[in-house]
Amino acid sequence: MKIREITTQKILSPTQINLADYVINPYRGCEFGCLYCYSQSNKNIKRDGFKSSLGIKINAPRALEKELHFVKPKRVLLASTTECFQYREENYHITKEILFILNKHNIPYTILTKSHLIAHYLWLISKNEENKIYFTFNFSSDKIIKTLEEKSPTVQQRLKTIRAIIDNKINLRIHIGPYIPYLSNLEEILNLLPKGIKEVDVELYHKKQGNFDNLLKAIEEGFNKELGEKIKDVYRNQESYERFSDKLKLKVEGNTKQLPFSFYYIVPGYNEFYSPTIDYKNTLIKAP
Ligand code: SF4
Repeated sequence: MKIREITTQKILSPTQINLADYVINPYRGCEFGCLYCYSQSNKNIKRDGFKSSLGIKINAPRALEKELHFVKPKRVLLASTTECFQYREENYHITKEILFILNKHNIPYTILTKSHLIAHYLWLISKNEENKIYFTFNFSSDKIIKTLEEKSPTVQQRLKTIRAIIDNKINLRIHIGPYIPYLSNLEEILNLLPKGIKEVDVELYHKKQGNFDNLLKAIEEGFNKELGEKIKDVYRNQESYERFSDKLKLKVEGNTKQLPFSFYYIVPGYNEFYSPTIDYKNTLIKAP
């Protein structure tokens, strides 16, 4: 992967994602290399080559300090099109500096991540009790992770990180997304989750945004053709997609009845291109 140090004029972008009013992406691209990654349809990331190039926004902390003279975000989302805690963060500390600045200005933030490396920063994140982590745990098998997410953390690394987040008393939502039919195993995932979790969501995989053909190819090569065909069937038309989604919703309701947390169920529209206005907050199907 080609690593490039890049500069940015602006690091705070207004967002329609209903988790914050501004978003920060400290990197362009991602070392974890998930095949289904929705950010591959972002034109800047596509142009640079999603799997071949990582841009490190080397002046991001300084840009943020400057912008905060003019903008006062109510909440910041980290990160919508990258992973804040990818391997290069250990050398560059761009995210770490950003967290320091947000803490200093008393601006709460929500972090989307699947990285075990966030564990090194929990002391910093726990400084503001309004901060929240959405931690992705969508597969219960390392073979699936290796096939579809190449360099992302293993099941055990993620579980250890989830436990550390709970121990640090940081607001946490477990994000089972994208939930890929016949690969994400709801029962196994729920069984693995440690005690102390208060919020979980399931978000069904979105075909239009999620690099469908390459995903199927990897599944057929890594597992078998039949599995690829079954997944293709789910996404064949709106009817089959809705049939699968209704069944999954029933399964979610059945499996979570006795569990002591809130459960959210998110289904992107079949024909819509991924909408940034997907409602992550108000899709509750089960209260604790
Ligand atoms: S970790 Fe997130 S940003 Fe990185 S490739 Fe995977 S889905 Fe995309």
